[in-house]
Amino acid sequence: MSQRKVLDCRSHPSDRGCTLSIEGKEEEVLDAGTLHAITAHGHTDGPELREQLRALLKDAELTDS
Ligand SMILES: [Zn+2]
Repeated sequence: MSQRKVLDCRSHPSDRGCTLSIEGKEEEVLDAGTLHAITAHGHTDGPELREQLRALLKDAELTDS
């Protein structure tokens, strides 16, 4: 099983004051986070954006085992 990750917009302050939190497997979070960053925050898709998002990922708290 893979460690779930959390991408929390609150850890990346923006002019929108976005509080979205995305949780799931790393690739799922990166996919959703990339889309969100583009549509909600006006970022441009590309490897650099994914690296920025990857750097913001945190381990999710394990709620089951
Ligand atoms: Zn956001």
